Amino acid sequence: MKINKVAIVGGTHGNENTGVFLVNKLKNALPEYKGLKLKYLLANPMAIKNTRRFMDHDLNRSFGIKELQNIESSEYEFNRAKVINYELGPKGNPKYDFIIDMHTTTSNMGVTFIFSEINKINLQLACYLSEKNDSLNLYYHPPESKDVDSDQPYLNSISTFGLPLEVGPVPNGLLRHDVIEITEKTVRDTLEFITLLNNDSLPDFPDSLEIFQYIETILFPCDDDGNITAYIHKDLQDKDFCQLKQGDPIFYTVDNKTIYFENEFPMYPVFVNEAAYYYQDIAFSLSKKISISTHLT
Ligand SMILES: [Zn+2]
Repeated sequence: MKINKVAIVGGTHGNENTGVFLVNKLKNALPEYKGLKLKYLLANPMAIKNTRRFMDHDLNRSFGIKELQNIESSEYEFNRAKVINYELGPKGNPKYDFIIDMHTTTSNMGVTFIFSEINKINLQLACYLSEKNDSLNLYYHPPESKDVDSDQPYLNSISTFGLPLEVGPVPNGLLRHDVIEITEKTVRDTLEFITLLNNDSLPDFPDSLEIFQYIETILFPCDDDGNITAYIHKDLQDKDFCQLKQGDPIFYTVDNKTIYFENEFPMYPVFVNEAAYYYQDIAFSLSKKISISTHLT
């Protein structure tokens, strides 16, 4: 298996400026990499111009087969998804073998590699990046349906291999030196991994990896009018990927009461207090830590 063409994408969400900045920087600084053909893409130009996550619909939820095939839709992002699918895809048989999609988060996620698909190359990349950065987090969000082949709506789902990257915490709409630096390093490490893969010179990797697998989404408590009635408790704030046990505080209510975690089994919160999810009343997600074999064929 050789990977020849790599797409490096920023601005899938128009208010995540790090990826936009790095696309503009790297397309000049790094037009190619050791024989790899690179394509730089700003995914959502209208949202970038307006410093908004999206105009009509979340672009990173617009790449399902159904959305891509719907010729009736007039929403800006559904049209952008079709253009990007034409340029990088088509989904399932893509021109670009590997997509790096750079995101940021307001949550304290550090550098997180989000698996949209578990396969040998993605797992080897996870091992490689973990060795380059020992605080790297690995997060797997399985398809909603139990069917392993079920369709996913993410930009990265155009290609089988890739790196959906989340770095934070950083507020929307601004640039932070440390976040730019670690994102750029991770992109460069990924390109180096691909050249090692192509030359059959990857180092040996451990037999298994620990990853966090998504379990469920926790919503903010709301009143009958849909107003949020509690916020994230200070003890949970910034505790992404830290163990959450029964009896730990999770919310603090409008009438000054603490709400505690009631789950019998310990879990690991992810995307705690992510600003972009408030419009859906999402407070955080729960994941469990699992060990996964790296010996997939
Ligand atoms: Zn994003």
